[in-house]
Amino acid sequence: MAEEKEVKTFKELGLRDELVEACENVGWKTPSKIQAEAIPHALEGKDLIGLAQTGSGKTGAFALPILQALLEIAENQRTVPAFFACVLSPTRELAIQISEQFEALGSGISLRCAVLVGGVDMMQQTLALGKRPHIVVATPGRLMDHLTNTKGFSLGTLKYLVLDEADRLLNDDFEKSLDEILNVIPRMRQTYLFSATMTKKVKKLQRACLKNPVKIEAASKYSTVDTLKQQYRFVPAKYKDCYLVYILTEVSASSTMVFTRTCDATRLLALMLRNLGQRAIPISGHMSQSKRLGALNKFKAGECNILICTDVASRGLDIPSVDMVINYDIPTNSKDYIHRVGRTARAGRTGVAISLVNQYELEWYLQIEKLIGMLYILFSIEATRMKVSI
Ligand code: AMP
Repeated sequence: MAEEKEVKTFKELGLRDELVEACENVGWKTPSKIQAEAIPHALEGKDLIGLAQTGSGKTGAFALPILQALLEIAENQRTVPAFFACVLSPTRELAIQISEQFEALGSGISLRCAVLVGGVDMMQQTLALGKRPHIVVATPGRLMDHLTNTKGFSLGTLKYLVLDEADRLLNDDFEKSLDEILNVIPRMRQTYLFSATMTKKVKKLQRACLKNPVKIEAASKYSTVDTLKQQYRFVPAKYKDCYLVYILTEVSASSTMVFTRTCDATRLLALMLRNLGQRAIPISGHMSQSKRLGALNKFKAGECNILICTDVASRGLDIPSVDMVINYDIPTNSKDYIHRVGRTARAGRTGVAISLVNQYELEWYLQIEKLIGMLYILFSIEATRMKVSI
């Protein structure tokens, strides 16, 4: 039965030829699971809730139906309406990546996007808004700032709202801005809400701003992708650095992300690894936006092959070639683990996630195991699924 339903092509989902071609041009041969399930409902005009992990192709799942609607309106009215869709993202980097995907998919139709994120000059963004973009991708705080202070800018014509990584959008910093934005945008619109995890706050947001949504679950609750190998190493706190260096030297991975709890640790570890001849670069919330983007670009370009980051970088970064994630510190919030390891094994690729668990972090790691439903026997190093032996 399941096979009968399987959709093989973007065309079969109901997408127009221009968009099928755009998918081919960006190298997408067949729809991902979330795309196959979400796009037909979205094209029917339904609101969506997508429970999808990072790397599932969720950006395409909301971008393609929005582009299809734009194309249809442009055809009927001979103009492409400005401020047609707004995508809210919790991080600046994710906002930039979403905009890049929109631009790549919309390149054939001269799509204009504006990115409104904090840490960048307001004036430049005001100029971008003056060009009347079709799509606005923004972090909530900066969008509200522009809605309040930029003359002539409003979202009165908005037809689509996307809340990406909604669980992250609902943190204390953003909640107020998000409420204000929801109050000033048109109620007659389509809303897509994507979240890796379904928290109480996300459910509340869903009730507040979606109408009879179709729920699509590309991954079972809190699961990690099948192509991801998850391993842990139970190590004494004082030897963590040695184990990190050992793994980085012994496991062959062309690109690695190392997660730490603090911004200081990203800097210190990067210094240590560089002194040992490794090509490591830190990225954390303490760095300016331009430095963060610079570090990310060096990593993407392969100039550096180890990115040391805090959880700021664990969400939404689209770095397809990461083949190893190392949790140098175990996250205290189990859901952060899912987001961290979601950096590898993306879009059908394989990947490995190695967690260095010390005597103080055991409890947190057990919580994570409970969450992802895995029962490793923690107390024996031999029982780990590590391929390397230390
Ligand atoms: P996302 O989950 O939207 O961040 O997408 C993760 C990565 O998967 C991005 O690099 C996309 O370009 C890629 N991707 C999205 N959809 C597809 C597809 N249908 N086929 C292959 N790659 C895809």
